[in-house]
Amino acid sequence: MKSGYRVPVAGLLRETGSREKVELEVKAPDGIGDSFYGVKEGSPVRVEAVLSSLRSGIEAKGKIFATEEGKCSRCLKDIKRPVEVEFSAFMPPQKAMDEDSPMSYEMDEDGIYPLKGDFADFEGLIRDELTLQLSMIRLCRPDCKGLCQKCGVDLNEAGPHSHERDLDPRFEKLAELKERMTK
Ligand SMILES: [Zn+2]
Ligand SMILES: [Zn+2]
Repeated sequence: MKSGYRVPVAGLLRETGSREKVELEVKAPDGIGDSFYGVKEGSPVRVEAVLSSLRSGIEAKGKIFATEEGKCSRCLKDIKRPVEVEFSAFMPPQKAMDEDSPMSYEMDEDGIYPLKGDFADFEGLIRDELTLQLSMIRLCRPDCKGLCQKCGVDLNEAGPHSHERDLDPRFEKLAELKERMTK
């Protein structure tokens, strides 16, 4: 069983009102971002959380630390930067979730991640929270100038340049000649 994402909570469940600090060092699950940008599967992820035992389940609050990486959408340079997200989640016993009557936990904005037996499972939570937190603007820097549309040179390094002037004069002459001959 892949247990890296799971934290035993039997003790907490026995004692309503008790709290426990947990720290997880895990590998990032798959499916965070796309092939161009995201948190790479297997890259290190750290979770720091406080679990509190409520009468109806476990409340988890804390932070997730990871690294997002990909390519700048303008110049295609590699980007790698830390991503940090605060979360608040509610983890009810599986049994409560199975009951037909819809339960309202009145915990707006909190994700709900049912316990797996006596374990809190952080895999789905890590995936969801990091996916939401990924940068929408995927640039190596806010003012990235991108690549020249004509020659593909990196404009951050090359600066502005024109192509009219760059045209080989011999070709211009040839084009002129051709035009005259066809007239
Ligand atoms: Zn860039
Ligand atoms: Zn150019």
